[in-house]
Amino acid sequence: MHDPILLTPGPLTTSATVKQAMLRDWGSRDSAFIAMNAAIRARLPELAGAAESHVCVPVQGSGTFAVEATIGTLLTRGAKLLVLINGAYGRRMKKIAEVMGRAVEALEWAEDRPVDPTALDRRLAEDPRVTHVAVVHCETTSGILNPVEAVAEVAARHGRHLLIDAMSSFGALPLDASAVPFTALMASSNKCLEGAPGMGFALIRRDVLTFSEGNAHSLSLDLYDQWRGFEQNAQWRFTPPTHVIAAFAQALDEHAAEGGVAGRGARYAANHRTLVDGMEAMGFRCLLPRALQAPIIVTFHMPADPAFVFADFYDRLRERGFAIYPGKLTVADSFRIGCIGRIGAAEIGAALEAIRLTLDEMGVASGAPAAAIAA
Ligand SMILES: *Cc1c(COP(=O)(O)O)cnc(C)c1O
Repeated sequence: MHDPILLTPGPLTTSATVKQAMLRDWGSRDSAFIAMNAAIRARLPELAGAAESHVCVPVQGSGTFAVEATIGTLLTRGAKLLVLINGAYGRRMKKIAEVMGRAVEALEWAEDRPVDPTALDRRLAEDPRVTHVAVVHCETTSGILNPVEAVAEVAARHGRHLLIDAMSSFGALPLDASAVPFTALMASSNKCLEGAPGMGFALIRRDVLTFSEGNAHSLSLDLYDQWRGFEQNAQWRFTPPTHVIAAFAQALDEHAAEGGVAGRGARYAANHRTLVDGMEAMGFRCLLPRALQAPIIVTFHMPADPAFVFADFYDRLRERGFAIYPGKLTVADSFRIGCIGRIGAAEIGAALEAIRLTLDEMGVASGAPAAAIAA
């Protein structure tokens, strides 16, 4: 029995060695386990050029737990958050703030448009009560790349804190704290870093976190308290996901061996090119122009051919060993295929071949959407 190749935005296909790293039981107070955590906490800020300025605070749970914990820990009760929204993950940050009862507003764009730093500039000039701005680096809903550098410049010029959800980009797309000043960045173990799911983390400016005691709405999601715990005895406050952490340490070794962010990003960019070229040759069309598309996950328009039924297409591909992802868009009927995880030219090539065979079997002549046929 082969596991499917996961062409999804996470969880992702991991290497055999990452999976093998989970075949051990660690005591949470073992010195080797404590050293492993310290090494992970030291390595993650280095990937963002933030080792001097920021601390890494890991938290149990999926990526959303880290986003919620960061918002709850950094916003004082009188703070006001402005979320830049062009997809589901921006919307989720707004909802998180609402559930917590913090003041929050949003600027919104269509899912196939990047967020606009000029509109942010205007809003911040108008509203001095906004203390924090939140943006998603790669909005996984469509796969669009947002202009985080320009957003960071605007936020910094107005003296507001910037929170970046870099969940689906961290480790593959460069983001350096010296060029993109941020107060906090949130990511997780299982996307571009290719670990197992179960741990999120935030990189938070040390000088800001130091003064964040008592802000949090929640005990388990209080990153100030979590950080103090690590600083005091190098341990997690509550049961750590030991197997996930061991796999993550291995995944970070493999990330470094591949050439770090540049090496990982280059493999994903090659996956992306091969995927899009192969799909376009079958008639499929991408939602986004290439200039806006991150090499993380690609949204394709639904084909117009009446023989194409997505649920059937999905099941047949899954039978052939490939899991793709339904669309999450409101702007167009679509589906998504991921380029990330421990996959390369061989897996993308095999996926394209499986798609070709599946279209034949279904009697679909072309993957072209209605718009492309009309044009
Ligand atoms: C995956 C993802 C998250 C977190 O999702 P979880 O399911 O909680 O891990 C947050 N933001 C973005 C942009 C993501 O891609």
